[in-house]
Amino acid sequence: MFTLPDLPYAPNALEPFIDAQTMEIHHDKHHAAYVKNLNDLVTDKTEADLEDLLKTTDNQKIKNNGGGHLNHALFWQMMCPSTNSGSPTGKLLDAINTTFGSLEVFREKFTAAALGRFGSGWVWLVMDNGQLIIDSTSNQDIPKAKVLLGLDVWEHAYYISYKWNRAEYIKNWWNIVNWPKVAEKYNQI
Ligand code: MN
Repeated sequence: MFTLPDLPYAPNALEPFIDAQTMEIHHDKHHAAYVKNLNDLVTDKTEADLEDLLKTTDNQKIKNNGGGHLNHALFWQMMCPSTNSGSPTGKLLDAINTTFGSLEVFREKFTAAALGRFGSGWVWLVMDNGQLIIDSTSNQDIPKAKVLLGLDVWEHAYYISYKWNRAEYIKNWWNIVNWPKVAEKYNQI
C-alpha cells in the first residue's frame, strides 16, 4: 500500500513563486493519481520497497506511476517558504564549490539542464560515488543516484502562473529551495 503524503506546508506557502492553485492541483490531483494508479498496479509492496521495485521492474505503468509517486514525495520536501530557504553552508557549500566552482555556476548549470530537458521530466542534484552530479530524467524516471535536490519541469508544475515560460518558473523556484533539507540529505550520505 502506498500513501499520498501531506504537503509539508500550506498550498499557498510558496507564493508568490508557486501559486496555491498549482500546488493544490499538483499534489491533490497529479500526485494523488500516481499513488492511486500505483496501488491498482502493485498490491503486495510498501513505500520501503518502492525504489528497488522501480529499479527492477520492466512494467512501464509501474515505472510511470511509481516514479511519479517517489519523485513528487521528494519534490515537496525540497521546497519551503522563501523566508526559510536559506543557502548552502558548511560541507555542502564546500562540495558545491569544489565540484562546480561556485554556487552561482552550480545554479547556472542546473538551470541550463532544466531548460534543456525536452518535454516532461526532472532535473536533479545527486550524489554518485561521492561526487555531486547534475542529472536529468525524462517523464517520471527516477535518478540512479542519491537525490539531494530535484526540480519538476513538467508543464503541470508551472503552467497556471508561468504559461510557456519555463525559464521564469526556474528563476523564481530558486527562492523556495529548501537548502536546510538539502544539507540534511547531504549529511546523511
Ligand atoms: Mn509533477
